[in-house]
Amino acid sequence: MNHKSIPNQYEYLSWTEIKSIAEMRRSTIIWPFGAIEQHGPHLPLATDSIFVDEIVNQVLKLMPEDLPLMKIPTQFIGFSPEHLGFNGTLSLSSNTLISMILEVGKQFSDMGFKRLILLNAHGGQISLLSTSARELRKITPNMHIFPCFIWNGVRGLDKLLTQSEIENGLHASLAETSLMMAIKPELVGPERPFEYLSKNIPEGWSLEGSSPTAWMTADLSKSGVVGDSRGANKTLGNDLKKLLIKHWHSMLLSLMSSDWPNE
Ligand SMILES: [Zn+2]
Repeated sequence: MNHKSIPNQYEYLSWTEIKSIAEMRRSTIIWPFGAIEQHGPHLPLATDSIFVDEIVNQVLKLMPEDLPLMKIPTQFIGFSPEHLGFNGTLSLSSNTLISMILEVGKQFSDMGFKRLILLNAHGGQISLLSTSARELRKITPNMHIFPCFIWNGVRGLDKLLTQSEIENGLHASLAETSLMMAIKPELVGPERPFEYLSKNIPEGWSLEGSSPTAWMTADLSKSGVVGDSRGANKTLGNDLKKLLIKHWHSMLLSLMSSDWPNE
């Protein structure tokens, strides 16, 4: 097998190749996180995992080949207790997920890797990955950990999505349905649910944001969709895909050209 044809895929390299890469300056691992959880009647369970996998793969193709940057296999099963009321959802406990990140993360640090990016596409585990990253940093003082959410900080997103979609399109809504139409259209079913059910929230409180509630999807939705998927289309999906790739490409270029914070 020609290792060099897939230089960014950790598990296809040999231990000697990993040894020399890990010891390089700025050596960086990307660990993509998704979920296996219901995404309405029209999207596959692995929606978040498929998204992060695709974006990372496309971004890595654009990166200069000689960088010590690689991805490990996407973590498909995540922390999804809010969706367990729907068939198909699989969820690890928070303890299991944190332990896994600490155990595997420590091994990267022991090998000599300098950075670990936890690149996550499931909104329900953002805070869990931040917590894990902080715990991991405590036991790996020489490795920096970046717990990132793939939709966060993406400049230009507000030009493609309405404010209502950004605030209320929490799950399997317009953005996710459109993006899947661009990435794997054969996995998108014909239904286009529209459900908010957030109308009775007391003034000042919210589902997410400043004063949120720890909602279960079944509190909000019968279909599993939280938001409005009706306007989903492939053009929007392609635009979202391009924007996500552009954003994460520039983020990785900037990280890989910096020694921060050890300059
Ligand atoms: Zn999702």
